[in-house]
Amino acid sequence: MFFNLKPRLMEVSTETRMQQMAGRGLVVFPLPLQGHINPMLQLANILHSRGFNITVIHTQYNSLNPSKYPHFTFRPISDGLLETPPSTERGRDLLTLLNVNCVAPFRDCLVQLLSSVSEEPIACLITDAIWHFTQAVADGLKLPRLVLHSGNISFLAFAAHPFLREKGFLPKQETIGLHRIIHIHLVIFSDSQTEEPVEALPPLKIKDFPTMDIANPEDDLYMLIDGMVKANKGSSGFIWNSFEELEQPALATLRGRSIVPLFPIGPFHKYFPASSSSLLAQDPSSISWLDTQSPKSVIYVSFGSLATFDETEFLEMAWGLANSMQPFLWVVRPGLIRGSEWLEPLRNGFLEAVSGRGHIVKWAPQQEVLAHPATGGFWTHSGWNSTLESICEGVPMICSPRSNDQMVSARYASDVWRVGVQLENGLERVDVERAIRKLMESEGEEMRERIMCLKEKADLCLREGGSSYQSLESLVNYIFSF
Ligand code: UDP
Repeated sequence: MFFNLKPRLMEVSTETRMQQMAGRGLVVFPLPLQGHINPMLQLANILHSRGFNITVIHTQYNSLNPSKYPHFTFRPISDGLLETPPSTERGRDLLTLLNVNCVAPFRDCLVQLLSSVSEEPIACLITDAIWHFTQAVADGLKLPRLVLHSGNISFLAFAAHPFLREKGFLPKQETIGLHRIIHIHLVIFSDSQTEEPVEALPPLKIKDFPTMDIANPEDDLYMLIDGMVKANKGSSGFIWNSFEELEQPALATLRGRSIVPLFPIGPFHKYFPASSSSLLAQDPSSISWLDTQSPKSVIYVSFGSLATFDETEFLEMAWGLANSMQPFLWVVRPGLIRGSEWLEPLRNGFLEAVSGRGHIVKWAPQQEVLAHPATGGFWTHSGWNSTLESICEGVPMICSPRSNDQMVSARYASDVWRVGVQLENGLERVDVERAIRKLMESEGEEMRERIMCLKEKADLCLREGGSSYQSLESLVNYIFSF
């Protein structure tokens, strides 16, 4: 069943609606992780620029800085993490805990906002997909909830776990072949659990699926995905930080089966940069150092805000970089190396060996780095924001996915769009060196040509009449129709 909105939406022009309904309120609730805060605040900015008033409910954990958004209203809520601090190693524990701890504070805050006469009438709530408890709260208050998916569209394939278990693919085992390619169906949107699998997704492999103990209903990831699937079905629609031309087959499949409307309106960072929602200070020396390098010569290395490595892996990466003889800009976030504060493991002549050729910072202005003429390649963990940012600047990638939807993004980059090299078998220094040479020398030009085509499509989709432009129009009209 597909809830077709278009005819109703098109009856009233956006402008007329805007005049009638100017000043309607939206409440947004970002997940307090860098890769989720950025797209939610970018989305809030996009919708603010279309005439909505924005209230941001946020946790104390990774609390936001209201001074960077004077045009929004901020409402902090208690998240209980001071009493029960989460494990920093396991993001899943944190997300599960937050989905429990925030229920009452979030509901109280929302009730207050809805009942306050001084506040704008609230049209709807927009929350991150991982905040699955918010659907029940919204239902109880009869408030429509839109879901922001800040990852790639095919991540939803993970919701096919009942099918994969039934076919014996999960739990993951070597005996069924981790490299086997599978086609899966998307139970997440469908009312039916009995449909045949569809072959519309890219060639995901069993190894691309996150490890979870699906036989154990207490497994954190299982609970998160299960909660997300159920809450998604009750929502009023999905917003994606992606664009039609990038994930067309998956989108077409979803459209054919979805019981709620879909709005791919990205890439968000092309409307508003992420720098104002950065939780860490971005080191400006990244740019002044790049200014001293030749065009397209530098490999930029960053693994996002959460990934961690053990010391052995880190040293292999370091020596792979050194042996490649390629200039590099490396973001080594404090905490990136498990058990170390920062660069202590880099002994034995590494810094001397790369002197003048390598620059290490704690956090970089990533969008500016990727847009810099000296940047020729990006070694990434394939976080969705990083992947989109790289595509939008036409920078080919080396992909070292660590968890969750990163494996799917890396598979797309290497096997579908063919704009990246995937490091599939660990992080041995010889493999790192080989991948860097492949990216920066032998296959780099072809990958760059392909990614420049995607960049062009990303530019076009935001222009008047483009796919994301139209999708945003539909979204604005849809919100006004609540
Ligand atoms: N980022 C940044 N500076 C850095 C590294 C990352 O500003 O040194 C930003 C990057 O531009 C992106 C976000 O942090 O917007 C990371 O999101 P992503 O989805 O790529 O990864 P996550 O941190 O969620 O694993």
